Amino acid sequence: MPKFDAIVIGTGQAGPPLARRLVAAGRKVAVIERKHFGGTCVNTGCTPTKALVASAYAAHTARRHADYGVTIVGPIAVDMKAVKARKDSIVAPSRNGVERSLKSLEGCTVYQGHGRFVAPNAVKVGETVLEAPQIFINVGGRASVPAMPGLDQVPYLTNSSMMDVDFLPKHLVVVGGSYIGLEFAQAYRRFGSKVTVIEMAPRLIAREDEDVSMGVADVLDAEGIELRLNATCMTVEKHAEGVAVNVDCTEGAPQVIGSHLLLAVGRRPNTDDLGLDKAGVATDARGFITVDDQLRTNVPGIFALGDCNGRGAFTHTAWNDFEIVAANLLDGGERRVADRIAAYALYTDPPLGRCGMSETEVRKSGRPALIATMPMEDVSRAFEKGETNGFMKILVDKETKQFLGAALFGLNGDEIVHTILDQMYAKAPYTVMARAVHIHPTVTELLPTMLQELRELE
Ligand SMILES: Cc1cc2nc3c(=O)[nH]c(=O)nc-3n(C[C@H](O)[C@H](O)[C@H](O)COP(=O)(O)OP(=O)(O)OC[C@H]3O[C@@H](n4cnc5c(N)ncnc54)[C@H](O)[C@@H]3O)c2cc1C
Repeated sequence: MPKFDAIVIGTGQAGPPLARRLVAAGRKVAVIERKHFGGTCVNTGCTPTKALVASAYAAHTARRHADYGVTIVGPIAVDMKAVKARKDSIVAPSRNGVERSLKSLEGCTVYQGHGRFVAPNAVKVGETVLEAPQIFINVGGRASVPAMPGLDQVPYLTNSSMMDVDFLPKHLVVVGGSYIGLEFAQAYRRFGSKVTVIEMAPRLIAREDEDVSMGVADVLDAEGIELRLNATCMTVEKHAEGVAVNVDCTEGAPQVIGSHLLLAVGRRPNTDDLGLDKAGVATDARGFITVDDQLRTNVPGIFALGDCNGRGAFTHTAWNDFEIVAANLLDGGERRVADRIAAYALYTDPPLGRCGMSETEVRKSGRPALIATMPMEDVSRAFEKGETNGFMKILVDKETKQFLGAALFGLNGDEIVHTILDQMYAKAPYTVMARAVHIHPTVTELLPTMLQELRELE
């Protein structure tokens, strides 16, 4: 039975850097990976989807050539095999880099196969049982497949199988109008597919403020994506053209017929076949591993990091989990998940950059607050670039003057949001930024202007 100081299960965003830190601290480490090194983000999540979004943006901009005084002679076509090849060429170095770096790491032994607990301090891979006093679970998640009547009778795609698509679906039906579904929807529409998004809720990305949902819906609608909301009762069946989705929407036809079906209705943790019962590790009702604020499970020596702990669903939160655990175990730190400020982006075009509380959450909190909004049409840089869709919204605590949150749906919103996020980490009053002199012409230059126009949130 090989004995180690630590075992890392899964090579997502937290496992590999933690393995490196542990080895650097002189620990003997085993890393277990059952499929692709680098996990979801590298192979079927962030990296490939943003590569696809970039190809889609190029196609969209090419079609807008006349807006910029550019002449393109002949039709604009998208070569889906080349789009996929580009995406693969971006994914491969990242995946290979993670694999190579772990396999060449002295003090680290890599096991390829499915890891499963057989005891609180032992994990079995193939026929080998590994033992260690510390075990770090970084097994991530996968696409949820809902119990939708008829789904077992029709072929469907998820974010993972979408990675093999090297053709143009005639009509892509996306079930799920949230972050993952909308990125694919806009990209494939721009590649040339007819696209319908079916969403159970009355609006897209329903956890965002209503004006944000509406702004995103308007952009997608203007690009010809059909949106079917309030689809409370969905069933699917085979159809001569591919698949038929029966929807019980308040508006529109009762059936959506498409060539391909993409399920984007959420994620579930990869904890169901991990032998957690053999280790006594507790999960919540949805299978997320229960952790404390320092990512310790209920079993001493076992930690859970990344999407599988339900405390975050992003690469940056998984990475931060690594930083918290490494700092606390190796550097005598006292870092906590509670110190993290919520931040994320939706990579439609334009993107949505979000940090902190939404307007709805601020209102619910009942605290006195100030708000400023600005349409992107008023931003000269956006105007110059011909990309004026969207708006920006900032919320500030009236008493402390500190930022509460922001929603920046517009050109470079995914980048600009960090100027506010950093002020939030600094706990700086908004007046610091309000008096800063930002560079012209940028989108960020308008943030001080917005802050000078804060008004009461009524
Ligand atoms: C389509 C899509 C787009 C996304 N876009 C973004 C984005 O733009 N920005 C962002 O921040 N986040 C994005 N995410 C989320 C992001 O990918 C995840 O939050 C991130 O990968 C963190 O995951 P993780 O470290 O928890 O584990 P993962 O990356 O999921 O990796 C887990 C690893 O564990 C392995 N594993 C699982 N079980 C076992 C086992 N029993 N034995 C051995 N190995 C095992 C898996 O094979 C996998 O390699 C996206 C997700 C999707 C699906």
